[in-house]
Amino acid sequence: MSAAPGTNGVLVDRYGRVARDLRVSLTDKCNLRCTYCMPAEGLPWLAGPELLTDEEIVRLVRVAVERLGVTEVRFTGGEPLIRPGLVGIVTAVAALRPRPRISLTTNGIGLDRLAPALSAAGLDRVNVSLDTLDADRFTRLTRRPRLDAVLAGLAGAAAAGLSPVKINSVLMRGVNEDEAPALLRFALDHDYQLRIIEQMPLDAQHGWDRSTMVTAEEILTSLRTVFDLSPDPAERGAAPAETWLVDGGPARVGVIASVTRPFCGDCDRTRLTADGQVRACLFATEESDLRAALRADADDDELARRWRTAMWGKRAGHGIDDPTFLQPTRPMSAIGG
Ligand code: SAM
Ligand code: SF4
Repeated sequence: MSAAPGTNGVLVDRYGRVARDLRVSLTDKCNLRCTYCMPAEGLPWLAGPELLTDEEIVRLVRVAVERLGVTEVRFTGGEPLIRPGLVGIVTAVAALRPRPRISLTTNGIGLDRLAPALSAAGLDRVNVSLDTLDADRFTRLTRRPRLDAVLAGLAGAAAAGLSPVKINSVLMRGVNEDEAPALLRFALDHDYQLRIIEQMPLDAQHGWDRSTMVTAEEILTSLRTVFDLSPDPAERGAAPAETWLVDGGPARVGVIASVTRPFCGDCDRTRLTADGQVRACLFATEESDLRAALRADADDDELARRWRTAMWGKRAGHGIDDPTFLQPTRPMSAIGG
């Protein structure tokens, strides 16, 4: 392997991983306050001039698609649906060639209203985050009484053909740890695909505790009290979810064991924050400032070169289970989950 990033071609790191999947955070703001993500109040927002404009976002995505081999673009946040220019951004990214697949990770609030326009603009798929089907628990977990809005958003996404509609759930000890079977039943009944994610140390208030985290093993044990799960014969590739056939298939459920069974060796992601910083990993402690370069009139070649250099330095793994692990200074909502 060469000893430095190439001056042309894809986003490769020193371990030979190639990043084809770009996560773009469109905002650090949100209309919920999930306890595993944000504090109830007091989290400072990025200042307006620090945020990339819609045009700057589209330019950087274009560089990634045209020059760096990115084939998947996922918009996230914060809550991406609250970015006013979202439909225009999706339209512009769908016009790029080769056309990337475009998806969105959202809490679903307002998706019932926006799904038709997003689908028409070129959005292919959505992941909607939903951790509980109980209205009181939802309000405790997200600090906002919006369960009905999320359920309406899910239905709206399916009606607009944004399929497969996936649900992302995080289980928390003493809050919703018993809800895995009910969430799977709900997903099966509505033809949504459920993926349950281990909680990671990315909350702004640094409240994560390894010893109380609900593990993938516990999630599977809980699901198996109701369902028969058998290993999915389909190739996993770079997908973070380990999938299981439910009651013989074809329905599936995914478990994302980011902490107990990390998949860093197969990671194909690169990340762009809402203020234009490239991050090689959710847990990276370094960022590369593309916004400054872009606003200093760097051309596309220079932006691509900086992006390659940033990815070359990607570490082998996140090291959450290592005693020397340091949580990133930015919370998940500011990095883009
Ligand atoms: N607001 C959108 C949403 O909730 O889907 C997009 C951003 S959110 C940060 C992206 C995903 O990260 C959500 O599925 C959320 O549940 C997940 N997430 C947030 N904090 C997490 C944590 N500490 N551990 C695991 N997943 C987390
Ligand atoms: Fe908002 Fe998503 Fe974080 Fe919940 S997980 S507070 S919906 S950004």
